[in-house]
Amino acid sequence: MSDDHHPILPPSSAPALEECCHYKPTRRETAAMARGIRIHAAVQLWLEYEQQPTMGGLTDEEVKRVEQVVKWVNANVWKPCSEERLDVVDLDGREITFGTPDVAGYDMADKARSIVVELKCGEPRDVTAQLSLYALGAMEAHETELCRAVVLWLDHDIVEEYPTTFAECLNRALLLRDRVTNKTDGEQETRYCAWCGRREECGLWKRRASTALQVAEVDAIMHDVARRRLSEIAESPELTGAFLVAWAAAEKLIEGAGLRDKAKAWLAAGQEVPGWKLRAAPGRESVSVAALRAWAKESGVELPDDLITRGQDGVALIRDMPSKRNKEEK
Ligand code: SF4
Repeated sequence: MSDDHHPILPPSSAPALEECCHYKPTRRETAAMARGIRIHAAVQLWLEYEQQPTMGGLTDEEVKRVEQVVKWVNANVWKPCSEERLDVVDLDGREITFGTPDVAGYDMADKARSIVVELKCGEPRDVTAQLSLYALGAMEAHETELCRAVVLWLDHDIVEEYPTTFAECLNRALLLRDRVTNKTDGEQETRYCAWCGRREECGLWKRRASTALQVAEVDAIMHDVARRRLSEIAESPELTGAFLVAWAAAEKLIEGAGLRDKAKAWLAAGQEVPGWKLRAAPGRESVSVAALRAWAKESGVELPDDLITRGQDGVALIRDMPSKRNKEEK
């Protein structure tokens, strides 16, 4: 296999892949990553070539970090190597992945044990999936059974240590390789979704986006009503037309969700639905209001303006508002 192929399980994507095995890494660079790259390059020059940071391009604070890291590495890592490629394979020699930990070597306190060190900027998060792959690669290269995996969180002065074993790391790597290769689980929402290269084709991501859009559409209508006021809208044919179209769209959303039927069912079951009540109409027959008005016109009968229509079941859902007489009595 050529050296420039991409592993199916890139160590830096392992934390995201453990949360969603469909995650696809994309190229991105944040301010924290750029800072990490600068500090990391200076540490590497110091460790490999004993070249102290020239301060070029580094802030005073970053130079201080570099000095702290080199001091920590010299005190804890025997025969440190920086940026050296580690191949990670299964027991049959088949590739799991490959990668370059920031520092790898032997534990100064127990030279029969490997050590891998990652330098991280930004907020501390769970990166043990990445560390575990590097630890496995280091133990395979050093022929050791134990590893001390360490993260130095540069922005927080935190040293996190994870002592681990060959069997533990191998099991975790094989499990993850199987999930990523065979896509054994469905898509899972993760904190890495915003950086995932599969967003446009991901069903879960699209469902969430369309839900958000629908809510935003209703919000926009209500915002427009509040901002313009109905009287202003009523003065313009364009605004009235646009408003009624938007309103009809909002009604369609409510109709599609079956909210009126739900409210009726709750009220019929005796549950309170604030602002609404049921009015039972006598009998089960209903008549078209248009036909009733035509009959009244022909017969010279005067009908009240606020005719209430009934649903097919003879029960109408109406707004529960105080009647005019009640208001006057107050
Ligand atoms: S966008 Fe989809 S595929 Fe990507 S990590 Fe999120 S849920 Fe998984």
